[in-house]
Amino acid sequence: MSDADDLRFMRAALDEAAHAAASGEVPVGAVVVRGGEIVGRGWNQPIGRHDPTAHAEIGALRDAAARLGNYRLPGCELYVTLEPCAMCAGAIQHARIARIVWGAADPKTGACGSVVDLFAEPRLNHHARSVGGVMAAECAATLQAFFAERRALARSRRRLATAREILSDDPAGRTPSSEPPRSDDPGAPSTRASD
Ligand SMILES: [Zn+2]
Repeated sequence: MSDADDLRFMRAALDEAAHAAASGEVPVGAVVVRGGEIVGRGWNQPIGRHDPTAHAEIGALRDAAARLGNYRLPGCELYVTLEPCAMCAGAIQHARIARIVWGAADPKTGACGSVVDLFAEPRLNHHARSVGGVMAAECAATLQAFFAERRALARSRRRLATAREILSDDPAGRTPSSEPPRSDDPGAPSTRASD
């Protein structure tokens, strides 16, 4: 694959990440490519699917395997916007993916060099080539924008909750301390000027 192809397919993976962001999931997207053609797509959706394994890579691998009718994907490449975790690195190896291209590094769970490098472990029998940092700035910016928006939302929710607390601590400010006399109450003085 040329550098131009890598950029093209990473852009396609970013398009998949947008699906995740739109449904409130951490925006990570992936595509599987064979012979210059996208054969599988996936985006991160563990919350919506109630599935801890529903990472973008797993979705793209499942889509490609179903489409190609093969549980192994030899000669395929996987593009993903975030460095794969250990689970996804394992699935990529089981699928016999030939080459993996990832965008932003994940210092917390990255299994392609950030925390561990499962693609450089000689005791694991399948070795996909791993290329990191492709469109890293764009991939990281997508994640940063998502988390910034989520923090802003959390702040405004906290402000709203505080405002509600203040109101509930001050009942006089919310309801009058005594009800005004009702005009239809026979014991109350009339409020109508014509009487
Ligand atoms: Zn993963």
